[in-house]
Amino acid sequence: MTAPGKLVRYPADEEARYVREGLWESPTIAEHLHAVAREHGDRDALVCGRDRLTFAELDRVTDQRAAGLHRLGLAPGGAVLLQVHNTVNTVIAWYALLKAGLVPVCTLPLHRGHEIGEIARQTSPVAHLVAARDPRFDLVGFAFQQAEAAGVERTVLVSDGRAADPRAAELDTLGDDIDAAEARAVVEGIQAGLGRQSLAVFQLSGGTTGVPKVIPCLHAPYWHYGASLARAMGWAPGDRIAFLMPIVHNAGVIIGLHGPHSVGATLVLGVPDAAAALDLVVGAAATDVVLGPFAFDLALEPGLAAATALRRVLFSGKKVPAKHMETLAARGVWGGQIFGMSEGLCLTTPLAFPPEARAASVGVPISPADEIRLYEPGTEVEVAPGEVGELCARGPYTLRGYYDAAEHNRRAFTADGFYRTGDLMAERTIGGVRCYTVEGRIKNMISRGGEKINTEEVELLLGSHDAVAEAALVAMPDPRLGERACAFVVTRDGRPLDLAEVRAHFERLEVAKYKWPERVVVLPEMPRVSQVGKIDRRRLRQIAEALGVETP
Ligand code: AMP
Repeated sequence: MTAPGKLVRYPADEEARYVREGLWESPTIAEHLHAVAREHGDRDALVCGRDRLTFAELDRVTDQRAAGLHRLGLAPGGAVLLQVHNTVNTVIAWYALLKAGLVPVCTLPLHRGHEIGEIARQTSPVAHLVAARDPRFDLVGFAFQQAEAAGVERTVLVSDGRAADPRAAELDTLGDDIDAAEARAVVEGIQAGLGRQSLAVFQLSGGTTGVPKVIPCLHAPYWHYGASLARAMGWAPGDRIAFLMPIVHNAGVIIGLHGPHSVGATLVLGVPDAAAALDLVVGAAATDVVLGPFAFDLALEPGLAAATALRRVLFSGKKVPAKHMETLAARGVWGGQIFGMSEGLCLTTPLAFPPEARAASVGVPISPADEIRLYEPGTEVEVAPGEVGELCARGPYTLRGYYDAAEHNRRAFTADGFYRTGDLMAERTIGGVRCYTVEGRIKNMISRGGEKINTEEVELLLGSHDAVAEAALVAMPDPRLGERACAFVVTRDGRPLDLAEVRAHFERLEVAKYKWPERVVVLPEMPRVSQVGKIDRRRLRQIAEALGVETP
């Protein structure tokens, strides 16, 4: 069970306001899906390869899975680690867990012992759902090892294939024998016990401190997040939204699942592979596609001319080159940007924005109740319009505190509850409209193709190597992924250290591979910012940019 004392909720007066203004709706996320299914039952909720599922089918099968999970003894409130891929069964699992009152934890199939051990310590999961088959790794064996290492009882659930280990439960048939009406009654009974501020989902923070932070997403705020995005994008029943980044991730849940589903639109689900993006968009007659940094170049593909249903392309995660927007405009396709975070606050360029504002800014917040302040970093002093400041946010879906992190929360929020995002923005007027532009960040984070690397976490891992006296990790610009990680180290007694040894060290520590440095530079001493003695990270970034990625 997740402990209530660790959860920071919204103050009662804010809840009353959000309810009064119609932003926080009852019921729960699962019951929203049920309501949408009653209205749009025959429409496709999901298209994935050759498979499709209507809302009515999705609603019925997720009721049965939820009743099956309940019958297994997984009581409401328990957290469930997820390490699964972009498949139909994953979408079913998502809503089934929510219907069973369980709390999905958005861990990735790429996570290993270093990540899962710590996240499990923080969230005390009752179950671990893994893909039966993973091209890189035995996730099923790993799930059992993790539970054993922690010395706890944890149900291992498998999806998308048979479980080789008889101790594991197969999720994809669970509850098939339960009558639909009976399953519905079980789900309704569970959901009746949940409120607007009940815990729905755990997301992971991209970059805060050395220890990963867990974000509690509550039912009404989290549904409002997706529904606000759908409204901002003008999504409607019949729209087909193609999404190819990992679906069990905040962007996936909001842009891929809850957003489209809140309005009866279809998720066209692909896999994180740029080469497959064109076929996905053309083959499924997508009306919209959301592109992460690794797939931006789809906008330049001549073959996109065959995507006759395509109306909108939404770029996410890094600055969009002007050429991409111009190419789309020449084809009569709307191009725009989205900026969002697992902690909450999300901005998009409104449909009616002029092209120059859609090209140069990330637009405006998606909810009418979002509040933004741009403060001089570390202060609560607002910068003048047009100047760069730290983006601080409060609103109906932005977190009020990380889970079980009282001390960190004191630094991460202003006195009046604004979340200090660590991102730098400026408020500008472009093409006659007021909008926000991304101007960098002050938090210790590298964004590798949208996956976030916490530099402090990796520096601590580097520091645990015998040869390392001091380490600093900085972003190295990369045309495909946006950024990659470059490690600068000072070694003890001038000992040699190379990329291969650093990577072997990270493998021994069971660290997810996307966090492994992609260049290692040994320095005689760290460059310092004069006077204060802090590491001169700007200088390191310049060196990294000149060097580029190293071939391991
Ligand atoms: P995550 O919580 O993993 O979605 O990461 C959120 C962070 O990604 C934000 O705080 C930003 O630093 C970064 N980010 C999100 N969208 C954009 C964007 N459109 N351009 C640049 N950075 C972005």
